[in-house]
Amino acid sequence: MRVLFAASEAMPLVKTGGLADVVGALPKALAKKGVDVTVVLPKYGEIPKAITDRAITVAVMEVQLGWRRQYCGIQEVMVDGIRFLLIDNEFYFYRGSLYGYGDEAERFAFFSFAVLEMLEKFDLLPDLIHCHDWQTGLIPFLLRTRYANRPGYRDIRTVFTIHNLQYQGVFSRALLQDLLATGDDSFTQDSLDFYGAGSCMKAGLRFADKLSTVSLTYSYEIQTEEYGEKLDGVIRQRAHDLWGIVNGIDTEVYDPMNDPFLKFPFLDSLDKKRQNKTALQSELGLPVDETIPMIGMVSRLSGQKGFDLISEALPALMKENIQLVILGSGEHNIESMLQHTFMNNRDKMAVWFGFNEGLARRFYAASDMYLMPSRFEPCGLSQLIALRYRSVPIVRETGGLRDTVESYNEYKGSGNGFTFGPATAKDLIYTVRRALSFFDQKEIWARIVANGSKKDYGWDSSAQLYYKLYRELVT
Ligand code: ADP
Repeated sequence: MRVLFAASEAMPLVKTGGLADVVGALPKALAKKGVDVTVVLPKYGEIPKAITDRAITVAVMEVQLGWRRQYCGIQEVMVDGIRFLLIDNEFYFYRGSLYGYGDEAERFAFFSFAVLEMLEKFDLLPDLIHCHDWQTGLIPFLLRTRYANRPGYRDIRTVFTIHNLQYQGVFSRALLQDLLATGDDSFTQDSLDFYGAGSCMKAGLRFADKLSTVSLTYSYEIQTEEYGEKLDGVIRQRAHDLWGIVNGIDTEVYDPMNDPFLKFPFLDSLDKKRQNKTALQSELGLPVDETIPMIGMVSRLSGQKGFDLISEALPALMKENIQLVILGSGEHNIESMLQHTFMNNRDKMAVWFGFNEGLARRFYAASDMYLMPSRFEPCGLSQLIALRYRSVPIVRETGGLRDTVESYNEYKGSGNGFTFGPATAKDLIYTVRRALSFFDQKEIWARIVANGSKKDYGWDSSAQLYYKLYRELVT
């Protein structure tokens, strides 16, 4: 079975969030099952030179975008045994960061056309294209409309995976009509129309043969008005084609025994883990004391991640005997709020703003607990990485957090973390205090950590489910 992954980021090339982890790891797990996987990405300026230096140009073509023709190079490079194809156009992709530009519609419309054009030019017609998030939502749409009659294209099946329904790629109808060179017929309710505008996410949801999202709970949540981001009706109509498959993590990349970013490799030794804690305390300028419980966060600074609850809870949390360490990048107002609390609590809190993979690993390794009070969470990888690094998750029961973290039950001795349901600061504070009360009881704490270590949170069983999903389309 030949599968092409089309996505806007993938480890170890470029990453802004969990999507990159998934597109980096799932192909490797599928390849082990005999699937022939290729991954296609935009060739961003951020991709490490060590990788792009090895890339070989295998085709050069022009892509028609509305009335314009744009240069498009295709480069090939093998990374960790997986073939990557890079769509090269410096004007679109050689910029300071991955997203956030005024011409986002044009960049990813170009990418979508380029992927489809490349298949023929490069003799790569796959059995299935697996598209990820809105940046690739136009691919299933174009395949079933513009490319429907091209020889070889009709048999290609598509899967569209929602990693986060909040980001939808909604643009004005006039802009999309220009880029796609389509008429009003593509903007009906059954097609791209989204309340008078056009939606790339909806294009994927409407036209892909199968849909999936990254946890079972989120697959139900997005069918409700509360979590459906105004697309719940469209998703409900396709409920029979929607699968919820929980993400795993790449256990070779996230391996506390062999992590190049850690000074003290460890797995089940909490003593060794504590050495990582004191090392991070020194690195961040916190009081060095291995007995103080350290609570970690590594996160995009966005409303989704529950920073409003944290803001409200901080005065109470700062009265506890804890050290709160936060690594994040994103919204400026969240950064200011955290910075303000940090300035007044320098012995209890440390913040680091920016994206830093090495520091992230040290946060996971050093922290005793990992806080993730998300308002919604399609899957969440951070809590899985935390479990792998023996940091006990404290999470709100939503989406993938609900599917992967089970609250500690003191009567049965079961559970790998601490959870709360209502999205209130009161519940957050109560749950952190509950965790702290067990932290002081060494045997119980060791048991909770051991419960979390029973699973490796790898990709094996979920890759099997994706394989089953593909098999429903490709026989
Ligand atoms: P999301 O995809 O919504 O951002 P996930 O929990 O699924 O959240 O994945 C986030 C991934 O990005 C994790 O691997 C996490 O460690 C990483 N990450 C988030 N923020 C940072 C940061 N500032 N520096 C380094 N890694 C980060």
